[in-house]
Amino acid sequence: MLVCVGSIAFDTVETPDRRAEEVLGGSATYFGFAASLFGPVGLVGVVGEDFPQEHLDAFERRGMDTAGVQRLPGRTFRWAGRYLDDMNVRQTTNLELNVFGEFDPVLSDAYRSGGYCFLANGSPAIQHRVLDQLRQPKLVLADTMNHWITDTRDEVLSMLRRVDGVIINDEEAMMLAGRSNLVGAARAVARLGPRIVVVKKGAHGSLLVADGNVFPLPAFPLEEVKDPTGAGDCFAGAFMGCLARGGDHSVAALRRAVFYGTLVASFNCEAFSVERLRTLTLDEVEQRGKLFADMLRL
Ligand code: AMP
Repeated sequence: MLVCVGSIAFDTVETPDRRAEEVLGGSATYFGFAASLFGPVGLVGVVGEDFPQEHLDAFERRGMDTAGVQRLPGRTFRWAGRYLDDMNVRQTTNLELNVFGEFDPVLSDAYRSGGYCFLANGSPAIQHRVLDQLRQPKLVLADTMNHWITDTRDEVLSMLRRVDGVIINDEEAMMLAGRSNLVGAARAVARLGPRIVVVKKGAHGSLLVADGNVFPLPAFPLEEVKDPTGAGDCFAGAFMGCLARGGDHSVAALRRAVFYGTLVASFNCEAFSVERLRTLTLDEVEQRGKLFADMLRL
């Protein structure tokens, strides 16, 4: 079982074309929708009293187990962001932790021994608490965020020594490594502990560094991007879903997982919130995969 520990949120998203108010979001949400295309996934998160049961039902219908989602008194986590004309640039305009501020993830026995775990963006203290609970995991990957690297650098560094891989964006890789060349930064992050380093570059694709190998992949070219929110978490969900399904963590398998991560992330950008993901099928992903492979052929 693939387990994801992360946020479940109401997002308010503003793009140059549209504003969507309090729509379903959160790192675990996006991860779950993407990963569930490949196999079962368990979500560990927290919601408030205001979180509709119909969203939890929608998770379950897509093959996500929500037994690890706690409901606490109070309001659900809220995040708001605005994209500039260049959709690669996003400003966070509001962050209300609410019940996410009291999040203390407790994993069931089945989840502890699930084998695969993704530590989505959250404080390194929470990530350490999850790592303490895992029993002989096969593969653990983590995300982090600029403010954790700035405010709690030592805890982030000790977390990196305990995981197999990280999936982070270019800015975070540069901050961690203290250098601006991306290949150099990714290699430097790998020297901090993780065997697998995936650096996401938004519309510019991604870069995988694993066991000294470097694998760059462009993003799937989209003519219109409606809302890139959650693309990184979708990438991570499809990446880990693909690895958990195959049980193979070789460099060849990692390259394939990057390919699927890229494809699912591209679908997510075609609509606001999780609207495109709700109906997305693995068949559609495979079809786009053929098109993408054709585009990449030399
Ligand atoms: P991404 O676009 O991949 O960076 O993911 C954006 C999602 O992460 C949104 O749905 C937000 O609700 C969620 N998010 C944003 N900031 C945080 C945070 N500080 N902690 C946890 N989740 C967050």
